[in-house]
Amino acid sequence: MPSTKDQLTKYEKIEAFVKGFKLSTLTYKRVMTLLNSEMKSGLTKQTNHVADIKMFPTFVRSLPDGTEKGEFLALDLGGTNFRVLLVKLHGSDVEIESKTYLIPQRIMLGTGKQLFDHIADCIGKFVKDHNIQGQKLPLGFTFSFPCKQEDLAAARLSKWTKGFRCEGVVGENICHLLHEALKRRTNCDVEIIAVVNDAVGTLMSAAHSDRNCEIGLILGTGCNACYMEDLDNVGLWEAADDDHPQQVIINTEWGAFGDNGCLDFIRTEYDRELDTYSINPGKQIMEKMISGMYMGEIVRLVLERLTMEGLLLHGADRECLLFERGKFYTKYVSEIESDHDEFFANTKQVLEELGIENFTTEDCKIVKYVCTLVSARAAFLAAAGLATLINKIGRKEMTIAVDGSLYRFHPRFHNLMCLKIQELIRPGQKFKLALSHDGSGKGAALVAAVAMRLRNIKGL
Ligand code: BGC
Ligand code: MG
Repeated sequence: MPSTKDQLTKYEKIEAFVKGFKLSTLTYKRVMTLLNSEMKSGLTKQTNHVADIKMFPTFVRSLPDGTEKGEFLALDLGGTNFRVLLVKLHGSDVEIESKTYLIPQRIMLGTGKQLFDHIADCIGKFVKDHNIQGQKLPLGFTFSFPCKQEDLAAARLSKWTKGFRCEGVVGENICHLLHEALKRRTNCDVEIIAVVNDAVGTLMSAAHSDRNCEIGLILGTGCNACYMEDLDNVGLWEAADDDHPQQVIINTEWGAFGDNGCLDFIRTEYDRELDTYSINPGKQIMEKMISGMYMGEIVRLVLERLTMEGLLLHGADRECLLFERGKFYTKYVSEIESDHDEFFANTKQVLEELGIENFTTEDCKIVKYVCTLVSARAAFLAAAGLATLINKIGRKEMTIAVDGSLYRFHPRFHNLMCLKIQELIRPGQKFKLALSHDGSGKGAALVAAVAMRLRNIKGL
C-alpha cells in the first residue's frame, strides 16, 4: 500500500469527516454531570413536568426472592418483534414457551384500535394453540415505551418512540385498551396484573438469581435504563406508606436526554440529519446516538458522505442501497466489526448486499473504521449513563442487567462499556455487566408473580 503524501492527505481528509465521534473522557464527564442534573430534575416534583428525562416510578417495589411460582402469560411489545409467552415459574426453575408475531408497519403507524386488535388476535391464537382456553391466566405486559404509571396495572402512554406512532393511544391507559380489544376480538380471559417496561423486566429477571442487581439496561432497538431508588429521593411518589421496602424501581427513560438541546455540543452533522428524517424529530436524542434502530443509519450517512467526497467506494453506483435511507442495518455494523483479518469476509458481504460491486480492501478498511468510531461513541455514551447511575446509587458493588440485540450481537460493546465505566466511576466501586435472559418475558411474569404473592399475603 502506498504511503505517499497523497495517501496521507486522504486519511487526513477522512479524519476531518469523522472526528466528531471521538470524544474525550472529559467530555463524557461533562455528559455525566448534565445527565445527573437532568435526572434530578425528573425526580423532583416541581420540575418533573418540564424535565425531558421523566424518571417514572414504576410501582415495582420488591425484587423477586426466588420463591415465585405459577403460570403466567406475558406479552412483549416494543422491540423488533411482538411476542406472546407462557411462563411457568417454580422456584429457580423457569420454563418458557413463546411465539413471535410480526407487527406490520401499517399497524405500527396506524390507529391504536388496529394495534390492540392485532395484539388481541395474536393472544387468541396463542391461547388456542397452547390449549389454555378457559383458564383465567394472570398476564404481565412488557410495554417498552415511556408510560406514566398510576398503578402496577395502569399505565398511560406518554409518547411513542422507535418505529411506532399509533393514533389515539398517547395519554390512554394501555391496559384498558388491551382489555377492550380482548373483549372485542376473543373470548379469552386474562387478568392484567402488571405493565412493565423492558428495562424493568430485565432488572427483575436478573435479580431473580443475583441479589446484587440494581440497574437494568436495554441496548436494543431503543435504549433505556432503570434502577432501584429510595422513596425519599422520589418527589413524585404519592402512594400511601406501607410495609414494602422503602424503595421503588425508577424507569429513567433516559433516551430523551438531550431533547432540550443540552447534548448539542457533542452531536455531529450526521446525528442532525438522522434526526431530521426520523418519525420523531427533536425527540429521543440520546437514544438516537446509541440504539440499534439508528446506529446503522449514522454509519450509512458517514459512508455516503465520504463516497460523495471521493474518499471511498469509487465503484459505487449512485442507485445502490448505500444511498437509501434506512438500508444500512445495525446488524451490519456488528458483522463488519466481527472481521478480524485482512480478508474482510463480512464487510465484503455487506457491501455486496448493498449492491456495491467494485470495492478495494482499502474501502473495507475505511468502512470498518467508520463502524468502530460510531459504535464506540454509542458504547461510551451508554457507559457514561451507567457510570452516572452507579455513582448515584453509591453502593460498593453492583450488577447491571443488560439485554437487547445491540448488546447481544455487537462484538465489542460489552468490553468498550466496561472499560469506559471503569474510567468514569469512583475508585473502589465494583460493577459487573450481566446478560439478562428473556427479561421481557420472564421479567414481566416475575413482576406479576411478586404482586400475586404479596396480594395473597395480604389476603386480598
Ligand atoms: C423506550 C423505552 C424502552 C427502550 C428500549 C425506548 O425507545 O422509550 O421505554 O425501554 O426504548 O426498548
Ligand atoms: Mg425486547
